[in-house]
Amino acid sequence: MININENFLNLQDSYLFSTIAKKVAEFQKNNPDKRIIKLGIGDVTRPIAPKIIEAMHKAVEEMGKQETFRGYGPEQGYEFLREKISENDYKKRGVNIDIDEIFVSDGAKCDCGNIGDIFGIDNVVAITDPVYPVYLDTNVMAGRSGEYNEKTGMYENIIYIPATAENNFVPEFPKKVPDMIYLCFPNNPTGTTLNKKDLKKWVDYAKQNKSIILFDSAYEAFISEEDVPHTIYEIEGAKDVAIEFRSFSKTAGFTGIRCAYTVVPKNLKGYTKDGKEIELNALWNRRHGTKFNGVSYPVQRAAEAVYSEEGQKQIKENIEYYMNNAKIIKEGLQEAGYTVYGGINAPYIWLKVPEGLTSWEFFDKLLNKANVVGTPGVGFGPSGEGYFRLTAFGTKENTMEAIRRIKKEL
Ligand code: PLP
Repeated sequence: MININENFLNLQDSYLFSTIAKKVAEFQKNNPDKRIIKLGIGDVTRPIAPKIIEAMHKAVEEMGKQETFRGYGPEQGYEFLREKISENDYKKRGVNIDIDEIFVSDGAKCDCGNIGDIFGIDNVVAITDPVYPVYLDTNVMAGRSGEYNEKTGMYENIIYIPATAENNFVPEFPKKVPDMIYLCFPNNPTGTTLNKKDLKKWVDYAKQNKSIILFDSAYEAFISEEDVPHTIYEIEGAKDVAIEFRSFSKTAGFTGIRCAYTVVPKNLKGYTKDGKEIELNALWNRRHGTKFNGVSYPVQRAAEAVYSEEGQKQIKENIEYYMNNAKIIKEGLQEAGYTVYGGINAPYIWLKVPEGLTSWEFFDKLLNKANVVGTPGVGFGPSGEGYFRLTAFGTKENTMEAIRRIKKEL
């Protein structure tokens, strides 16, 4: 008889996006004449930059010719791409990351989930709350969460670190010391960031406790303020305590093309039960090489083109387009009297729902009165209750129209 991994039965169904889809479909059915504007989902909408498409086309052509055909590539990614990453994302920021510390993959989602393979099941996990749900769910699947408590909306063995307006979205050290600490900055969903001083505190804390920071900077490209670190390795000591996840998804519109990378510095150590130090880079290399066969060649050429002069110029135009939407939303909502966070270093706007309403009640009101769709904050964790996420990934016209309606109808 085949047994299942019963941890899966411990997952709470994520009703978030399916419930949203159901509510929107029903509203549209009952109101066929209304034009709904969706500012809910965190997917890009602008087409891929021409320079990137050109590189991809060229690579596809190479695959069709005997002299330039390529089969399996290195599991860790082609050197041409890892060199560009090392040079542009790290050396230019004064950080030395060797290409052997970079692992190219098909997504930060997979990497954030798969990284758990190299860590013991008994580690205590901490997540900030609210946050991108993948860190939590993958640890539930692995068996690190303990039971779910319906009343609190939390798993008993997971440490939830609130990041709310009360602490200015700067997570504080929890009472119990975690072993694995997931940090996501710029943050999805709050759109807020940590400055260098606050991130340094976390690096020092991890060092002191021999913990590891799993740092997701999928939204790094949207940072506009000076004091916000673009990589955790800008912080002194971070190479001893942090793994970093990066993605081309939001940086260059690769959500449908799929390319990302993870940095596992060679200094980074984990421990056996009897206290022996083990290099995490070697473990991840083994895991990656065993379970993954590399990102396709045309996609890696496309990612390489992101770093070309023209590629950079073109992707920045798209980022500016989204961040202009963020400004429209942020300023528009502020004019309408809302308290609003984020939207400066990330394409997410996190608003406080009006007093007396829950996140879902605000969702319904927004849909019914303004025909605008967003995401209830509570879907990202219990501390998200009372907040609401709007994204800047729509068109400028729809974004302006959504704000006009919110001002007029709510
Ligand atoms: N990390 C965060 C914080 C995200 O918000 C997302 C996507 O929404 C991802 C990772 C997924 O990245 P990828 O498309 O590279 O899997």
